[in-house]
Order: sequence, then C-alpha cells, then structure tokens
Amino acid sequence: RTHKIPGQRLPLAKYGGRHTVTALPGDGIGPEMIEHIRKIFSFCHVPVNFEEVQVSSSLVGVNDLEAALLAIERNGVAIKGNIETKHDDPSFKSRNVELRSRLDLYANILHCVTIPTVPSRHKDIDVVLIRENTEGEYSGLEHETVPGIVESIKIVTREKIERIARMAFEYATLNGRKKITAVHKANIQKLGDGLFLKVIRDMSEEYKNIKFESMIVDNASMQLVSRPQQFDVMVMPNLYGNIISNIACGLVGGPGLVSGMNIGSKYAVFETGTRNTGTSLAGKDLANPTAFIRASIDMLRYLDCHYHANLISDALWKTLVEQRVHTRDLGGQHSASDVVNCTLQNVEKIMEAER
Ligand code: ATP
Repeated sequence: RTHKIPGQRLPLAKYGGRHTVTALPGDGIGPEMIEHIRKIFSFCHVPVNFEEVQVSSSLVGVNDLEAALLAIERNGVAIKGNIETKHDDPSFKSRNVELRSRLDLYANILHCVTIPTVPSRHKDIDVVLIRENTEGEYSGLEHETVPGIVESIKIVTREKIERIARMAFEYATLNGRKKITAVHKANIQKLGDGLFLKVIRDMSEEYKNIKFESMIVDNASMQLVSRPQQFDVMVMPNLYGNIISNIACGLVGGPGLVSGMNIGSKYAVFETGTRNTGTSLAGKDLANPTAFIRASIDMLRYLDCHYHANLISDALWKTLVEQRVHTRDLGGQHSASDVVNCTLQNVEKIMEAER
C-alpha cells in the first residue's frame, strides 16, 4: 500500500464520475485475463470503463498500433496483455517496444515481494526494480554491414539516464526505501554504462538519506539468486533490467504473480512484470491471473481509486495466502476461474463485514 509513484500527473478525464481506460488484450492468455479483470471490476462496482483495442502481431495490414496509441493518448491510462513478437523476421518491430517508446513510458517499475504460502527459494524478498524502458539495446538500430557482420547499436543519453535516476531516488524517498543499487557493466561498456553509473552516482549526492551502491550486472545476478534480501531498490539500464526483473520474478514465484508498471510523464500502461504471452496456456483456464489482477490494482492506485484497489488486493491476499487457492504454476490444482471466483467471494465477505 506504500506504492507511490513520483512526478506530476496530467488530470485524467472522468465522465459521469467514471474513468475510461484503454484495454489491450494482446495475444496468448491476454484476452482471457482482461475478461477476468472486467468481471472483478464489474462485481466490485469499480468506476472504470474499458475501451478495448485489439493489437496483435497476426493482424496484418490493420493499423492496430496507431488505434491503440490514439486510445491511450486520449485516456491516459491502459492495461495491457503482451503482444507476440515474431523472431524470424528482422523487419518486424516489436509492437510492445514501439508502444512504450512512442508513449515515452520511460520507467518500468516492478515490486517483487515474497507471498507467504507461495513456494519460493528464499523468504523475505522485498525489492523494487526500476528499469529504463526506452533506450539502450532497445533503440532498434541493427544492420548487417556486409554479410556476416552485424552492427547492433546501443544508445544511451544523459537526459534519459537522469530521468530514470530521478525516478529511482524520488520513488525511494516517497516510499521510505533505504538503499539504491545501480546495476551496470561499466568495466566493459566503459562509455555507455560508465555514463549511467556516473550520472546516478552524482545524483546520489542530493539524497543523503538513501544509501547508494553500484554492482556489476553479473555479480548482481549471482547476489540476487544467493542473497536477494540485501536489495531494496535496483535501478538498471534497459536490457539488464529485463533480465534482472525476470530473475527477481522467478525468485518470488514466477511469471504469473508479479505486475509491472510502465510510467511516463504523460501516460501509464499497466501489464505483467515478465511480459509473457503464455500462448501454450491460452484457452485452458490454467494461467495464473494474479499478475494481471495486481496490474489492475496498480492501475486503480494510479487512478486514486484506493478503496477499490485495497478491496481487490485484500480479497486476492485471502485467496492466495489464507485459502491457498493456487494454480498449477504454484504447485496447486486450481484453475484461473477458481482464483477469480474465490476472490469475488472474499470481496463479498469484506463488504459484508464493512456494513
Ligand atoms: P508460450 O508463450 O507458448 O507459453 P513461451 O516460451 O513464449 O511459450 P512465455 O509466454 O514467455 O512462454 O512464458 C514463459 C513461461 O511462463 C511459460 O512456461 C509459460 O507457460 C509460463 N507462464 C507465463 N504466464 C503465466 C501465467 N500467467 N501463469 C502461469 N504460467 C505462466
């Protein structure tokens, strides 16, 4: 409940007391997950309407991405499933990456925390991962100069490093966090990662109450899997952030549990932490809906709908922790619908107790 996002927010349109948010179901398990969120929101009388836009890599010749961008620019906020990216076609640009860069969603924020009763290798993990989300290796600049020789260009800029660093220090201050670890590979990438490290280290001088340390990405990976409790807030460039986030999600129970926020100065998009499509689970009612439900709770907090965010969060907690309604990825036998229905029953009980 202490998940406060720094920065000024544009006022969001609210017609008849209700917010409109864009829903991008995406591919794989995304569409069924959005249906679960709709069901939960409708049951809880959440004052949110969805404007659904289909974006899929299989929609050839349709201007789906432009429609999605327009809808998010209009509504300011979106909840999103992952859009499948084809690996075998070099000219194919990831719609996920394009969406984040065109909306300038520069910070990806994940909160990885162990949940009692959910099996995990370590106890008491509580780490916030803050990843630069728009540049670095994701600049999409690759070409084959002559056959057999490829240039992949990694671009980093002081301006973008400064804003992700500012986000990390402000986030830590606002949420009572004590330490920031900057993850880098400045021993090899001397200029690029060197700049990343220097900018963050310089900024740390302005935040005397927050302990600052730096760690090389390979050591950070090892430290995470062996002693993850040492980390509080980690700030990372784009690609290392992607990998470290997946390690951290795996440590607290896997891709079905953690949500991820994409925050920019104008817009915010909420999705799952590991951004999986989970295609092999689609249509089977097997995928864990927790990560999506938590993404919807993050979104409600961003919209200042705190009553509903807490209601759904408490009901989900009872489902997972007290009643141990676990899907197969957590070693249980329950379906996604069981998790959702149990959460709705808990919502009802909480509301009855309030009356
Ligand atoms: P596929 O998409 O066919 O599952 P993949 O390798 O692309 O294959 P990802 O979507 O990247 O898989 O997901 C990685 C792994 O995490 C897969 O084993 C997938 O089944 C699992 N996974 C993803 N989302 C969930 C979820 N919500 N609940 C449980 N398992 C999940």
